[in-house]
Amino acid sequence: MKDLHIDGIWTDAADEARSEVLNPASGEVLAAVAVAGPAEVGAAVTAARRAFDGGPWRRTTAADRADLLTRIAALLQRDREDLARTETLDTGKTLAEGRIDIDDVTAVFRYYAALAAHDAGRVVDTGDPRAISRITHEPVGVCALIAPWNYPLLQMSWKLAPALAAGNTTVLKPSEVTPLSTIRLVALAEEAGVPPGVVNLLLGPGAVGAALVEHAGVDLVSFTGGLATGEKIMTAAARGVRRVALELGGKNPNVVFDDTDFETALDYALAAAFVHSGQVCSAGARLIVQDGVHDRFVAELAARADRIRIGDGLDPASETGPLVSEQHRAKVEGYIAGAIGAGAKLCAGGGRPDDPALQRGFFLRPTVFSGCTRDMAVVREEVFGPVVTVERFTDEAGAITLANDTDYGLAGAVWTSDAGRAQRVAGALRHGTVWINDYHPYLPQAEWGGFGRSGIGRELGPSGLAEYRETKHVYHNIDPVPQRWFKG
Ligand code: NAD
Repeated sequence: MKDLHIDGIWTDAADEARSEVLNPASGEVLAAVAVAGPAEVGAAVTAARRAFDGGPWRRTTAADRADLLTRIAALLQRDREDLARTETLDTGKTLAEGRIDIDDVTAVFRYYAALAAHDAGRVVDTGDPRAISRITHEPVGVCALIAPWNYPLLQMSWKLAPALAAGNTTVLKPSEVTPLSTIRLVALAEEAGVPPGVVNLLLGPGAVGAALVEHAGVDLVSFTGGLATGEKIMTAAARGVRRVALELGGKNPNVVFDDTDFETALDYALAAAFVHSGQVCSAGARLIVQDGVHDRFVAELAARADRIRIGDGLDPASETGPLVSEQHRAKVEGYIAGAIGAGAKLCAGGGRPDDPALQRGFFLRPTVFSGCTRDMAVVREEVFGPVVTVERFTDEAGAITLANDTDYGLAGAVWTSDAGRAQRVAGALRHGTVWINDYHPYLPQAEWGGFGRSGIGRELGPSGLAEYRETKHVYHNIDPVPQRWFKG
């Protein structure tokens, strides 16, 4: 299969190495895709380097690049249903979620098209009539864009759209677990008229990403994935002082006060924890609930978790799908066993579904633990599965202390009908995004990124574009005369 894309040409790996991509809902093989070797990594970076250094791409006008992004957005909508289906088959998410993803991806391309089109530099007043000073933006160069498996197309697009808008050239490395939609995206970019060498595609495991990051021809690495991988990438990018942006994991507190609207908070808490079987960086996996509502909240959360309909994402009756792989399910099961061993109270789920139709997929029941404490691994570490832990608190200060006691700092939420308290708590939380009386909305025009070990740099919004640009100051002395600093 020719599914690597290098210098505008679809190509196979030189050694014809293949890796199987599975449908997590059935365990069936969806495709066997090429695995790039060192030769393809080198060729992709060389193509991107050539397209950047010598090609016309970075001298295109911002308006031309905006047009191209707009065309990609239109093609995404043209193929919406097919792309959503691909995402569902590959990741296990429901088709409804797959469609939302494609719409979100489209919105990101449209947003950066608009931002690029209206993105002017600025003139700085020097206060001296003989000097003009201006600030301009330029692309960084060759960008290595590495994405995780949970939102394959969305995470890659958060990088690709601003990188192209700024005039960079790119080498994409999607997750080996879910590469199929990114192959489609590259084909759409080509159809939209991206010049050869501007968007290159490598497939394969982490070793391919590592070789890409190590390559001296790469100027910037933008990575979304786990903390341990992020540390390796930061170390590798330090050699040669390449720019690096990291979007890493999360362990996100969802704080519920007694005075909130109970049914709404409960409903959102369920979605925050169990959408996409909890395989979401910003999942509300850590519920922190005030004494007055705690017991009722846990009881009703557990009852509703038990009623979530698990199944193949293509089945319209399914409300959530499987975990992405056998190995990942085993990891999550390890956390469940550890939590029980540490004394957490299992209130719902905790194991695989009994339904005979689900035995071949990597399913796990939505799981609720109460009586959790901060010393438990299930509370401290990112489980990345359908597991929510509940801790209890008495007062506002206690809630803030709990919510901030994490190495991560990606996102969090606060539920209260007291507007002053909502603002106080949101202000006190050390997390990159805080939702008040809501969970999970994000906006292309806002910023996304973590505090602490959740990452470095920002995606989305104007900061997302800034990650992919150099800022240059040009100072023009329009009436130069000898300065006579040295008199001789
Ligand atoms: P991962 O770190 O295992 O892999 C991510 C990507 O990096 C994959 O493409 C993988 O092949 C590649 N990779 C692995 N080792 C590498 C290396 N040494 N050098 C270069 N590339 C390498 O992560 P994952 O399991 O695919 O994704 C889950 C993680 O992603 C979770 O921690 C989740 O929180 C995080 N995530 C974060 C955000 C965010 O916005 N902060 C969004 C989605 C997912």
